[in-house]
This record gives sequence, C-alpha cells and structure tokens, in this order.
Amino acid sequence: MTDAPRAADPPPPPDDPARAKALSRARKFVETYVAKGPYELYPEAEVVDNVVRGLADNLVAHGRMYCPCAPVEESKQKGSEMVCPCKPHHEDITRQGYCDCALFASPDFVSAERLKKKGGGA
Ligand code: SF4
Repeated sequence: MTDAPRAADPPPPPDDPARAKALSRARKFVETYVAKGPYELYPEAEVVDNVVRGLADNLVAHGRMYCPCAPVEESKQKGSEMVCPCKPHHEDITRQGYCDCALFASPDFVSAERLKKKGGGA
C-alpha cells in the first residue's frame, strides 16, 4: 500500500511494441479521465497498475479496453457498455465508493482511506 497512486510505473517489455503502445494508451486514458473529474484513482497504486495492465491486455487481445474485472466474451456482447469507463461505474462508485475493478473512486472514499491510513487503520 502506498499513499501516492499513479497510473504509470514499470516499463513494458521492450520486445512487445503492441503491448507497449496499448499500455501507454491505457495510462493516458486513465490519467485524462481522472484529470477531468469527478473521480480519482483508487488509493492503492498496485491495484491501479494491475487494472491498467488489464485494460492494455484487453486492448491488445480484443481491440478495445474492455473491463478487466468482467468476462470479456460477455462484455463483447454488450457493445460499448463494458468498455472502460463502463456504463455501471457511476452507480458502483455512488454505492461503494469505487468502481468494480477498483480503478476509479470517489474523492470522499479516497479521503476516508487516507485518513484511515494516517490513523493507523480503523
Ligand atoms: S469497473 Fe472500473 S476499470 Fe472496469 S471498466 Fe468500469 S470503470 Fe473501467
């Protein structure tokens, strides 16, 4: 667990340009989406990084950034609904504070998590 989540981190394999390009595109999308608001990144950098990698993997394998935490074949049947940012993410964030993949979170959720960490967890 860290306090400063980022969408970018370890370099992609140098021998896989398609994946490197997809990873760069996924990171850029996530950064742009968060910059627009109203959501922030889920406050655990490792979790965020795994989800971004999942988005990139789906982009390479399936041509679109399908939600990494949903079955891709089912997502494909739903058109754009489960392409990130998926249709249900607003509702999920309202209900639980973060989207189902734990990529995007509400500012309130992020603040509460940071307070918990500062206070040693409660
Ligand atoms: S659950 Fe989150 S990461 Fe997954 S598609 Fe929806 S918004 Fe994107």
